This record gives sequence, C-alpha cells and structure tokens, in this order.
Amino acid sequence: MSALYTESVASLRRKLAAKEITAVDVADQLLARIEQADGKLNAYNFKPDAAKVRAAAQAADLSKPLGGVPIAIKDVINVQGDPCTCSSKILQGYTAPYDATVIKKLREAGAVLVGRTNMDEFAMGSSTENSSWGVTRNPWDTDRIPGGSSGGSAAVVGGHEAFAALGSDTGGSIRQPAALCGCVGLKPTYGRVSRYGLVAFASSLDQIGPFTKTVEDAALLMEVISGHDPKDNTSVNRPVPKYTDALKQDLRGMKLGVPKEYFISGIDPEVEAATKAAIEHFAKQGAEIVDISLPHTEYACAVYYIIAPAEASANLARFEGVRYGNRVKNPKDILDLYRSTREQGFGPEVKRRIILGTYVLSSGYYDAYYNRAQKVRQLIKRDFEQAFTKCDAILTPTSPTAAFKVGEKTSDPLQMYLADIFTIAVNLAGVCGISIPCGFTKSKLPIGLQIIGAQWGEENVLRAAHGYEQTTEWHKEVPQI
Ligand code: GLN
Repeated sequence: MSALYTESVASLRRKLAAKEITAVDVADQLLARIEQADGKLNAYNFKPDAAKVRAAAQAADLSKPLGGVPIAIKDVINVQGDPCTCSSKILQGYTAPYDATVIKKLREAGAVLVGRTNMDEFAMGSSTENSSWGVTRNPWDTDRIPGGSSGGSAAVVGGHEAFAALGSDTGGSIRQPAALCGCVGLKPTYGRVSRYGLVAFASSLDQIGPFTKTVEDAALLMEVISGHDPKDNTSVNRPVPKYTDALKQDLRGMKLGVPKEYFISGIDPEVEAATKAAIEHFAKQGAEIVDISLPHTEYACAVYYIIAPAEASANLARFEGVRYGNRVKNPKDILDLYRSTREQGFGPEVKRRIILGTYVLSSGYYDAYYNRAQKVRQLIKRDFEQAFTKCDAILTPTSPTAAFKVGEKTSDPLQMYLADIFTIAVNLAGVCGISIPCGFTKSKLPIGLQIIGAQWGEENVLRAAHGYEQTTEWHKEVPQI
C-alpha cells in the first residue's frame, strides 16, 4: 500500500468517511513526511506547528467538504495570527491580523491549515530564487528550481508534503510551477475567487487558485474557494457551479483548439513532443481538434511587463516602514525612514519592477507605454473571445521548458521572463487555465499541458483535464526525495 501522504484529497475524504483512518493519522503522517522531505526541498517558509495541526485535525468536522484535509498556503495570503512575509525581508516580523476570504472559506469547509509556502518575493519571478528565505528545490531533481512564483506550493504538492495548496497567479505563477513539479494548478477566471487578504502584486491580473494532485481535487477546492465577496469589488456575483459535476462527462464531442502561435522556436523539443502527443490523445478519446489563432500572443510578454510593474509600483508603495513589517533603526528623518527601509527591505527583482513601473507611469511616458499596453491588452482579450466561438477549450504547452537548474537564469531577467510566454496572455485576458501533467523528459522531469478556458469556462477546463487524466498515468508517478 502506498503511504497515506501520497493520497489525493478525494481519496482521503473517502477513507475518512469510511473511518479507515482518522484526521489525526493524516496529520501525523503528513508532519512526518514534512520532517523527512522539507530539509531537502525548503518549500515551507514556516513549517506547520505540529501541536496546532494535531489539535485542528482532532477538532475537524469530517462532514464538511474538506473536513480533516491538510492544506498549505502560499506566504502571500493572510492567515490570522501567522506571519505573512511574501518571502520579503520588508515583511519580516509582520503578523496577519485577519483571515483572507479564501482562508475563511477553507476553515468553514473543515480544512486543516498547514504552513506557509515559499515564493518569489512579492510573487515576482518564475523560479522561487527571488526569495529572502532561500531557494525551493524541485521534488523531481533537487538541483533544479520548482518554477515560480508559487514554487513552494507546487513543491509541497508535487513532493507530497501537502495534500493541496493555495497559490496566486498573476502571469503564470500557479500553472508554470505546477507544470515543473508534476502537479495540477488552476488559475481561475478573474473575479471568480476573492482576492481579499491576498497581498496585491498586479491587481488587474492577480487571482488565487489551487494546487492539487488530481483534477477532481482541483474541482473540490474550487467549489470551496470560489464566490462573490463584498470585501473584494472585483469578485463577481455569479453562482458557483458544482465543479465536480463537470467531471462526469468524457471527452467525446468536446471541441479543443490548438493555436498555431504556441509552437514557437525556442520551445524545448521534448516539451513540444509531449504536448503534441497529448493533443493526439485527446483526439483518440473523441475530442475534435480545431485550428485556431491567437495572433496577438506575441505581444503578451511585452504588455505584461508594462502593466504588471506599473500596478506593482503602486501596490508596493504601502511598504514604507510605517504600517507593515520591518523598519530601519534610527532614521535621520521621515524620508530617510522610507528610503532606507525600502532600500534594505526589497530584493533586486522587486526594485527592478518598481523602477520599471514608475517609469512607464511617469508623465510623458504614460501614453507611449502604459496606455498603449492597455490597448494591446484589449486585442489579446479579443483574440480569446474569437477563439472561443470555435472551441470549448484551448490546448498549449504550459512552459517552454521543463525545470531548469538553480542559478541557470538568475543573471538574465529577460530569459526568466520568457518562462511565462504561454501563461501570461491568460491573465491579460482574464480567462482561466489549468496545467496538468502530460509527460516526462528523458531525465525524468515533469512536463505540463495547459488547458485554457473562456471567461467562466472552468467547467470545460476541468472536464477536458479530467478526461485526459483518467485515460493517462502521468499523475500517478511519485518522486523519490
Ligand atoms: N513570472 C511572472 C512574473 O515574474 C508571473 C508571476 C506571477 O504570476 N505572480 O511576474
């Protein structure tokens, strides 16, 4: 029998309901697994407090949808009484005074919260190397990065140090690390999940979503965390479907689009081959494959790296040493307090984004950069609207390469930015997307397939993803750590 910590959420739930195991057994096994594996992965910024986790497991109401299920949280979401550092020195010592809406919902659903996961500082990056708390390692090869920015969440799920986790995705930060760590990661439609209590990076792009071992688990978590929240006026008042119902239908009759622009030069041949094999697999299972075009995708990275830094420069202005976290000692005056706190508190990538963002918003450059980028963003959005008149969902690679080596791209920010070339347009358009395992490289690194859905198209995405998963074996592999 496989170890308990490798179970999916759905199978844990079944075993708990049948009283084959208790929530405390689950917590104990998971805590032991974290002890064994996290020294190698460094995926948790703050490991769970064993006594608290056991007590929560003991008290968990097993009749609830996630009753007794341990879930890890990216260190960018406020959990009352816990640190929330965004992997930044500037937030060292900050304790969250309230629960984010997603946390409240997880608690109400009976989940047991475990630990805060590592990330790129303020969610800026694609490798979790921009963290003040050290690099997280990929569970499939500890010389390699787990992807980012939610690399800790991907590594704890891929490495079976959590049954599921929450992350945030602004340009790919759930899907790309999920692909690189061999798990499932879903970025919901903008407005589907409340962002209240998520530390903002780029507010028009940020969305919270789940990391899970299976598509069914992603549907389960989506049922819990989705929904309108009066505390986030970008969340939309629209009923939450029973996402698990979408899994009952197979792939027959689904129309799946393949955009010609997504098989670009620079894509790793093994990734390309695995994606093409997956597309064929869908066809064999009865889906209809249609050619589509997303012509403005080539501008997505350029547009993103104007809009995201612009919004970040405004959002990060609040970290000045007065209200949150760290403050320098003995500043000369108030200006020195702001300057020195920010100088010492932010890492190089965050500074780069603030400078970029301030520049593109400055008078004289605003029209040339920011306004122009907003216009192209509309064209990208329109591309998707057009495409979804022809298909139910779109198939693409998630990342152009499998996990790269620690340090391989740190000196070249542009190379790092290209890691999100396939995921960024989804955020710009506000649509949804999932990454699911679709193969391995020869050196046994996971490869992810991205399935993109229209606005509110989560059911189609989950149906396609589940149909693929149920007829393949990739998601069953467990890394040796
Ligand atoms: N890697 C992208 C960036 O650095 C996306 C990050 C994210 O989705 N949070 O901005």
